[in-house]
Amino acid sequence: MKRFTLLLLVVTAAGLWACWQAAPRYQGGMLPRSVACAAEASAKNESPKMVVHFIDVGQGDAALLEFPCGVVLIDAGGDAKNGRKLVAYLAKFFSDRPNLNKTLKSAIVTHPHIDHTQMVKEIAEAFAVERWVMNGQHHGSGWYKVRWLVEGEKKDPHGRPVVLQEVLNDDIENLDANRKGKPDYKSGLASENIDPVKCARCDPIIRVLCGGRTDAPKGWKDTEFDNVNNHSMAVRVQFGKAMVLFTGDLETAGIKSLVEYYGDQSILDVDVYHVGHHGSRNGTTKELMDAMTPKVSVISMSRWDDNRPHTGWAYGHPHQDAVRLLEAGTIMARPAEVVEKVFLKGLNPDKPEEQRYVPMTIKKLSQNCGTPALGRGKDEKMHSRGRLCHKLARSEIVSKKQIYATGWGGDVRISVDLAGRLNAEEASAANN
Ligand SMILES: [Zn+2]
Ligand SMILES: [Zn+2]
Repeated sequence: MKRFTLLLLVVTAAGLWACWQAAPRYQGGMLPRSVACAAEASAKNESPKMVVHFIDVGQGDAALLEFPCGVVLIDAGGDAKNGRKLVAYLAKFFSDRPNLNKTLKSAIVTHPHIDHTQMVKEIAEAFAVERWVMNGQHHGSGWYKVRWLVEGEKKDPHGRPVVLQEVLNDDIENLDANRKGKPDYKSGLASENIDPVKCARCDPIIRVLCGGRTDAPKGWKDTEFDNVNNHSMAVRVQFGKAMVLFTGDLETAGIKSLVEYYGDQSILDVDVYHVGHHGSRNGTTKELMDAMTPKVSVISMSRWDDNRPHTGWAYGHPHQDAVRLLEAGTIMARPAEVVEKVFLKGLNPDKPEEQRYVPMTIKKLSQNCGTPALGRGKDEKMHSRGRLCHKLARSEIVSKKQIYATGWGGDVRISVDLAGRLNAEEASAANN
């Protein structure tokens, strides 16, 4: 023991001497030795990290995967009012990391709805996007924002060639048909476009688990097949022992197919869940939560009190039922519980006292639109969208789990190291 201690002292002293010798010098004299050594040690010993930035773009999705040697964007959405925040956020980010040359290695657009494509052109103008990945669906509310990528002259705003991959679900199923019995069976689809990042000390693994469908899977109704949300790409990111899952806006039918396809694998067992469909009631199921057992869940939606059309408020995001599933199925606890705002969509307007829910489909209540609220106080609001009208009420939920939402706390950053250690940070908890 004594001999070991002596050896340790000798090694430490030698290290200090070497460090002192190697310490960089500047004109005013030598850098303080302890500072130089600490900086060197931290650069050498600190575990590489992935930071997932869930950017507050109002009602929509935009998440930046930051690795030591490159970045990938998943969705470039946002609402008309807040979408510009994405460009500003990335501009600030790149100014802090100039070695990345304002370049996105890849941008994955889960599906062509406007809240996922709003800022695609602006991103292409402001930064270099080396590759695009889309789901092969050529319609939807945000298709006009990405049409130039698919049907245009295949040049970006800087005149560089557009590199685009469209992922169909058939690609994944055909691949699996050929790798049955192999270790990579049902491990998702990889390519240079989907997974372009390989750093010196870490190689993240990015896979697309499902893509746009050409035929309705068994059991899907026509309306479910016609719904672009159900064609969203699900994206899984692995960084060391940490796993993150994005499901875009997959709704119940799409989630069911995803869980059934991968159900007997561990691939859906992840640490961070980017909550599907902005916390909508149809974007998270118990089966999915059971398969994932996430430690942390993050919802992207606009502020709960932004009471304009096409907002989380208008759509009822996040819905109380989804947040309850998250609360029950998210593993990590918060240091201190918080009270957050959720919505009850489809409250039965005829029997409010029952707190019963009508089906998710927006009820056609054209005659009732604009009638006074049901007298349940200031939390109850009526929202009208032309001829369609549905009832929304706001409620509060006490969260003891690590559930974060851009509409509650602004930008959310989750950092993970190779050992799978997680740390969550909200830009502002003052939004409540
Ligand atoms: Zn969406
Ligand atoms: Zn959508």
